[in-house]
Amino acid sequence: MNVGRYNNADRESKYELMFLRFFWTFIFICILCVVLPKNIFKFRLIDPIDEGVLRIVREVFLGLVLIYQLLKHYAFKRGYFKRALIRYIDKLLGLFIVSFFITYVGVGLWAFNVILFTILMITLARGTKTGVKTVAYSFLIHVALLFSILGIRDIDRYIFTGHVSATVFFYMTALIFVNIFGTAYNDNKKSEEKEAYLLKKLENNCSQLKKSNKRLAGKVAELFTLQQITKAISSILDIKDLLKYVNDIIIGVMGVPYSTIILYDQNTGKFKVHTTNINNGEELEILNENINSDCLREVLKSGKALIENNLEPEKYSFTKDRGIKSIVCMPLSTKTGKVGVVLVEHKLADVFTEENVNFLDIISQQVGIAIENAQLYQKLQDMAYIDSLTGVYSRDYFNELLKNEFRNAVKGGYKLSLAIYDVDNFKIFNDTYGHLFGDEILKRIAWTIKAYIRKGDIFARFGGEEFVILFPRTDLEEAYEIAERLRVAVANIPLGEISYKQSVTLSFGVSCFDDCATNEIELISTADDALYKAKASGRNCVKKAELLKVYEIS
Ligand code: GH3
Ligand code: MG
Ligand code: MG
Repeated sequence: MNVGRYNNADRESKYELMFLRFFWTFIFICILCVVLPKNIFKFRLIDPIDEGVLRIVREVFLGLVLIYQLLKHYAFKRGYFKRALIRYIDKLLGLFIVSFFITYVGVGLWAFNVILFTILMITLARGTKTGVKTVAYSFLIHVALLFSILGIRDIDRYIFTGHVSATVFFYMTALIFVNIFGTAYNDNKKSEEKEAYLLKKLENNCSQLKKSNKRLAGKVAELFTLQQITKAISSILDIKDLLKYVNDIIIGVMGVPYSTIILYDQNTGKFKVHTTNINNGEELEILNENINSDCLREVLKSGKALIENNLEPEKYSFTKDRGIKSIVCMPLSTKTGKVGVVLVEHKLADVFTEENVNFLDIISQQVGIAIENAQLYQKLQDMAYIDSLTGVYSRDYFNELLKNEFRNAVKGGYKLSLAIYDVDNFKIFNDTYGHLFGDEILKRIAWTIKAYIRKGDIFARFGGEEFVILFPRTDLEEAYEIAERLRVAVANIPLGEISYKQSVTLSFGVSCFDDCATNEIELISTADDALYKAKASGRNCVKKAELLKVYEIS
């Protein structure tokens, strides 16, 4: 943006070169004056001094001026003439040289033009004041040189006085010119200053505009990100997917190498890495091992962000040997409580700003809402999948799981057994002890059975006080044995402390695919038939479904 200043320097060096060439012309004419016979240049005011030592002095001076001119060329090329003071001194020397030539070489009145030109150049470059001073300096030098001649040789008084008065007159005229050119200089300077001021103002406005633009672009990016997150919150209801998405957004928008979402387990009181993009095994191990550090707990407890731009690894154990220099840690909370922290890390120092913290804060608030939504959704889903009284699967969900298991059994070619049980005389139980106590018994039976069955077995409430258990990879005999064990276990539930009745008993019906049924509906109905048989044969027993008939082609 320094266009104006560059142009000035360019212009000045052009004028200097012009002046240098102009001086060469002057010197060339002077040499002609010296070399050519007297009568060729009739305009000489004072005759040149041609005798003896003085002639040598004049020629030596001419030689020195020539050397000085050549030196000036060299200095110009080396850029010394870029300095205003050097330019000024050169012109003062020039004035002395011209006055010397006029007085001692006798080059004539025309050379006064050279003096005027030099003075005006100084005035244009440095203003009226310096112009006037230069006139005074040149005048004094000139007059001193004139009078010095009187000491050397005899000059006609009349000619001498005429010469002095012409000189005085010339310098007075020069003063008028200096005044005119000085005014031009002042005007020029003022407009240059104004231009520079406007330029500076323009530069400032421009840089402010650039800054605002950058800020605006940042805000637009932030808004876009928030819009994306808000969209995600309403569409992604699975916490795992949602946090992975948010973590990716933080990495993308903040341009950080590492971002980790750490959740707090209320039951164990410990932190656990939920989502991270750290894929280096060693680094992840360090983070996992030191995740329960005091500073992260403090962020969760205080609910205030932590920003560290030049951290000491000893203070933050989870960054040890990982080369982390800057971190921001933001708490995550929902209406019901504190759920965790977001940890953003960088290997460079001094990277995080207040703006980053603000951005992360907004994201964290959104994530808090999202977690709350997801938790609520999870609860609703659980309600549909799980029977609220006993905690076992609901009938609807069981039907889905049954279809799935049946498909696997067909595909894998293995047996799939099913047991269905019904509490014996439960109506009487309810009527005697009340429904609330009946509920309590249903819960106890369910807990007992849950404790006995295997992890892969599927236990569900089929309706009322009827329950089903699915045993994958189990044949009819094995299912029967298990049901028998379950029956005995339930019959042994101690009830002494709550009722006078010694025990509560179950009747079981068991069936098996593909021994007793060909599809999942038959599997249930044949088990139900077996249960009916168990009831009919006195209750508190297990009955097997009938085996499918095999027709042999004879
Ligand atoms: P049976 O041995 O023939 O099965 O006799 P039962 O009295 O158990 O007969 P039934 O199976 O027809 O009776 C079911 C009873 O279970 C009726 C109902 O009051 C009771 N019941 C069903 N669901 C619940 C429940 O969630 N809580 C309680 N307390 N009782 C329930
Ligand atoms: Mg029943
Ligand atoms: Mg019953």
